[in-house]
Amino acid sequence: MGISYARRIAGVRPSAIRELLRLGDDPELISFGGGYPDPALFPMGELAEIYQKLLTPANARTLQYTESRGLVELRELIADRLTRNGTACGADDVLVIQGGQQGLDLTAKLVLDAGDVVITENPTFLGALIAFAPYEPQYAPVRIDDDGMDVDHLEEVLAANPGAKLLYTVPDFQNPAGVTLSLERRLRLIELANRHQLVVLEDTPYRDLRYEGSHLPTLKSLDTQGRVVHVGSFSKILAPGVRMGWAVAAPDVLEKLGLLKLAADTQSSTLNMAATAAYLGQYDVDQHVADGNVVYRHKRDLALATLDEVLPKSVRFTRPEGGLFTWLSFPDRFDATRFMQETLIPRAKVAYVPGATFFPLVQEPNHARLSYSGVPDDRLVDGLHRLADLLREELVE
Ligand code: PMP
Repeated sequence: MGISYARRIAGVRPSAIRELLRLGDDPELISFGGGYPDPALFPMGELAEIYQKLLTPANARTLQYTESRGLVELRELIADRLTRNGTACGADDVLVIQGGQQGLDLTAKLVLDAGDVVITENPTFLGALIAFAPYEPQYAPVRIDDDGMDVDHLEEVLAANPGAKLLYTVPDFQNPAGVTLSLERRLRLIELANRHQLVVLEDTPYRDLRYEGSHLPTLKSLDTQGRVVHVGSFSKILAPGVRMGWAVAAPDVLEKLGLLKLAADTQSSTLNMAATAAYLGQYDVDQHVADGNVVYRHKRDLALATLDEVLPKSVRFTRPEGGLFTWLSFPDRFDATRFMQETLIPRAKVAYVPGATFFPLVQEPNHARLSYSGVPDDRLVDGLHRLADLLREELVE
């Protein structure tokens, strides 16, 4: 067709997860792939009532344009909730965005020139790599373990990349590995960010989905120099289809993010902002989250107990204290993509997300992300047994 695309599009590729979700159309497939919240937990009745009330002539303003920063009543409710949970802020510190994903795009747009170095966990959230790609960054990945990003390695990576600009992290129940950054490491990460003048992009969509242990402070609450852009989302605690999230940052940073938001999409949906505000105002969202966590905790416990029982000992997996994922690590030369395509799907109709795509630089083949949230109990147990049986055949020396 002779279309001359911008250079930035060269790094933008189809996502392996999207391909995988297409397989999910087979009703027989037991998919541990998508990290979707459980639709049975959507507050359907409450939202139906709220939307019905909003869509009346007296509430016509909910179908009108509004401020690009977001409805003030929603920003107030978000700020109140964050403050209650230890991240002190006010309505003017909040920008309403279309899910956390937009926060990743806008922050990258704000700070990255082509070739700038972004520090990430290794592995990291694929959606972040997709969001950052058009800004043509280079990556400096940092090792993770059960306590999240290894800050000693971070220090080494910073020494090797003194000009690094952005550090992207999912500190709570990380996607894909399920691990959580310890308090000691949070403090050290902020110290290093200050020393190296980094912008820290703190992505927290799973933060409220904690099933055990106590909440750790957000990086934003530990931020002493206004370097943290804190991004949160209602996707996992209310419903992802509403596309509602927030960014909290220092005034100057937030102002610029707001200008980029205006350029990108003018504003988030007035109707969905009004509905989210009405939900937060009329119902106890914390109780709703607590109820959902009972369901997710049960799923996690069942998945981990089954994995303990059936997986060959040479396969390791993380023990998340919350969130939706555990991360499987197979022996070194195992190819998790090939195993899924050639064996697991055709013979057992079971799928996970092969881990390779979550690595920004060197794609380690021997991992998989497993989500336990979207599968009914009997199929979850059955699917993990089938996975383990085939692994046992495959891993025979
Ligand atoms: N960050 C992480 C780590 C995620 O896992 C997701 C969604 N799965 C998002 C951001 C984006 O979610 P949303 O835009 O729906 O808030």
